[in-house]
Parts: sequence; structure tokens; C-alpha cells
Amino acid sequence: MGLGDMADDVMRGVGSLGGWFDPTIRLGVTGLSRAGKTVFITSLVANLLDRGRMHGLKAAANGSIRAAWLQPQPDDTIPRFDYEKYLNAMTGAHPYWPEGTRSVSELRLSLRVQPGGLLGGFRGPRTVNLDVVDYPGEWLLDLRLMTKDYAEWSAEVLARMPGRPLAEEYLSRLASVDPAARYTETEAQEIAGAYTAQLAAARDAGWSDCTPGRFLMPGEMAGSPALTFAPLPPRPENAGRSSLWREFQRRYDAYKSQVVKPFFREHFARIDRQVVLVDVLGAIHAGPAAVEDMRRAMADILTAFRPGRAGWLAQLLGARRVERILFAATKADHLNHVQHPRLTNILTAMLREARDRADFSGARTEAMAIAALRATTEETIRQDGEELPAVRGTLLDGRQAVLYPGELPADPAALLAPAREGAPAWLDGDYAVMDFAPAARTLKPGDGPPHIRMDKAIEFLIGDRL
Ligand code: GDP
Repeated sequence: MGLGDMADDVMRGVGSLGGWFDPTIRLGVTGLSRAGKTVFITSLVANLLDRGRMHGLKAAANGSIRAAWLQPQPDDTIPRFDYEKYLNAMTGAHPYWPEGTRSVSELRLSLRVQPGGLLGGFRGPRTVNLDVVDYPGEWLLDLRLMTKDYAEWSAEVLARMPGRPLAEEYLSRLASVDPAARYTETEAQEIAGAYTAQLAAARDAGWSDCTPGRFLMPGEMAGSPALTFAPLPPRPENAGRSSLWREFQRRYDAYKSQVVKPFFREHFARIDRQVVLVDVLGAIHAGPAAVEDMRRAMADILTAFRPGRAGWLAQLLGARRVERILFAATKADHLNHVQHPRLTNILTAMLREARDRADFSGARTEAMAIAALRATTEETIRQDGEELPAVRGTLLDGRQAVLYPGELPADPAALLAPAREGAPAWLDGDYAVMDFAPAARTLKPGDGPPHIRMDKAIEFLIGDRL
């Protein structure tokens, strides 16, 4: 380590309250709802505490990590990630999937590191803090609101709405609204309620692009005026100060300045390393429209990591940058390993356009297929004289099943090209019924929960700092 690096580490230590001089890595974990954030963080922590399955993490394999333990986190006002509860749920006698991420939460894991060899002896052991910050990807999507005013946002949302669930209901409700009429709170709440219901239905049907993100995960802001507005048709000429249109415009601006900005300032701006989890398989199974929508949502999410030269986010970040970003396609245990390279290729292709456009300012990026908690084992099934690479697992109803999810295309272009008449459907095998529960098993002492490539993921994210 050069003097510059040491000074850097010291500076990072000073920035955190817990260990004064201990270097701290702030790892952001994000992804859209149900992408797998909660399961990922739980597995990450469990597998760093018990490193028996972490051969791909060099510092674990060569014994440099001497000890790992949980510590009080540095931020007293952010909820703690409820690691113990989630781990119990996933690895108890009757395992089940925990409730997913609803808001921002945090956890500090500390590692005692003593590198081997000459250098290690010279440096002595040190403590590295890993602050894991969990936050909904939906909140990153709100970034695009920052460059739009209420009229532009409304027009965009209303244009994309047709064809989505409950769209007709919302649009026909709007038909009877006079945006120039005097605002009443009853009407405001009713319209906002109808819009929120539409967003939730779209999200449940697999649409990724559902702003404002906080409408779906309001937390303690539920019912506040900043979360009680909705898109309206273009501003009527006669919309006066106390009209519904003007009040919604005011609330939209309040949402940007009092919800979106503080999130970026207090959480996003402090992240060093980032993992973006993506449920690629879910989108592929849902069909071409969901894949396209996810691709666009990912491109939007990525804009947060390349804030350009101007703009408020660039100002806020200053010289600070996220140094590494891992894109991980989750739940890869639904597939036999023979299909994993295809999944990685699809994720890479999905991100290509966004990455090409992006100036990540030197951030290293990588795409991987992972399973944070492996719920299946592999098996081959014979069907009509064909051998199919399948997986075995326990379904949520307790039955054991050996299932073949269907095929992923060898060429990602087959998925990402606009869907044509007669285009093949992918993952149209048993994928729809692959509701696997976490596997019940007793872990050997020293082993964390089973996973696929979590060790490689962590090596990429923080290996260089251990
Ligand atoms: P979050 O909303 O991003 O926090 O998502 P969760 O971590 O709660 O995950 C959502 C759901 O995806 C879980 O309830 C599981 O059903 C599934 N899931 C997540 N990770 C895995 C995994 O590694 N393997 C399998 N088979 N399912 C997973």
C-alpha cells in the first residue's frame, strides 16, 4: 500500500463514526422490488461470517480474513437491516422467504484482515468495516423526475399507461375530472389513490417503470401531501392558483425537493461500491414487453451512476464516484448451470446500450448470474427421448419436484429485438410453477448458506480492499 492509499484509508475511516481509523467500504444493494435484495444481503452477511463456501473470495480462501463480526452501524437514524430475523426465516427448520425490502436499511459487518506473505507481516492486522446499505431501486428511478416538470411528467406517464393493468380505470376516472376546478382534498386523495392502485397493479404484472417510486413504498410518508398527487392532462389555460392542477404541480415539486433529493444526498451520495440486482428470469418469463420495460428501467437506473458534468446530482456528488458496480441476474438456481452463461450474456446485452452511453468515470462494471440462496439441486430428466437439464427443489406447498424451466436463447438479440408475430416464447417450460421454498438443511459448522457465485460477486465488489 502506498502512502496515498494509506491516507485514503484514513480519510475513509474518519468519515465513519464507529471505528475512527478503520477503513470503511459502503456497499449499496439495490434492485427493483422482488429482485432479491433481502435474500442477497442475508446471504452475503451469513457467508462472510461463516466462510466455508467462499472459495472464490481470495481473502477468505487464503485465510487473510481472520474474523468477522457484526457491529452497531454508524448511522443512528437509519433502520437496521434485520439480518437475524431473515436468516432464521431462510435457514430455520421450516424455511420460508422473508418479506422483501420496503425502505432503506443498513448493517455494519467488520472483518479482521491479516494478509499473508512479506507484506502482510509488515502491515499487521487491520479492521475493515463493510457498511451494507439496502434501498429500493424504485427510488433511483425517481432521478428522472428531477429533470422534468409536472406537465412533462404527466404527459409521459399518461402516454405510457394504455395497455397496463387498471389503465382504463384511471384514464376514465380522469375523463370526469376538471383540472381547472378548485382543489379539494377528497378529490385529490381519490385521484392519487386510483393512480397508486394503477401503479401497484402494473408493478405486480411485471412492469418495471413505475414512478414515483415512493408511491409503491411510502413507509412513514404514506398519506402525506408529497405522496398525494397524480398525472393530469395538460394544464388548462384557466387553471388558477387554487386549482387541482396547480396543487398537484406544487406537490410534485415538493416530492422532488423533499423526497427525492434528500435520498440522493443522504444515502446515494455516500456509496463506494454498488450491486444492482435484476430478476432477468422473471421478466423473460413475463414476456417481451416486460423485458423491454426492464431494459429501459435499467438504463434509467444507470443514469444515476453517470451524472454527467452538470446538474444537481453531479454537484451533490462532487468528486465522489461509485468505484465498482456489479449487475447480478438473481435466482440463477432456477436454471441448471448449463444455462448460466446464457443468462449472463442476456444481462450483459440488456445493459449494453446503457453502458455504451454511460460515462462511468472510471467505475468498473461486471455482470454475473447468481443465486444468493440456492434452493435447488441439479438433475437431468428424459422427455420424448431428449435429455433436459433440470433442477430439483421443494415447492412452497411442500412437494418435491424436478422441473425444466424451458430454454433461454443462445443469442440475446432474440429476446431484445422487438417481438414479432410468431416469435418463440422463452422460459415457457415449468418456469411458471417454479415456486421453490428455501431448502431445509443443517449447515456444517463454518459453512454459510448454499449459493451460486456469491463468493465471486463479493470478490468483485470488495476483494481489492481486503
Ligand atoms: P427484494 O424485494 O428485492 O428484497 O426481494 P427478496 O430478497 O425479498 O426476494 C424476492 C423473492 O425472490 C424471494 O421471496 C424469493 O422467492 C425469490 N428469491 C430471491 N433470491 C433467490 C434465490 O437466490 N433463489 C431463489 N430460488 N429464489 C430467490
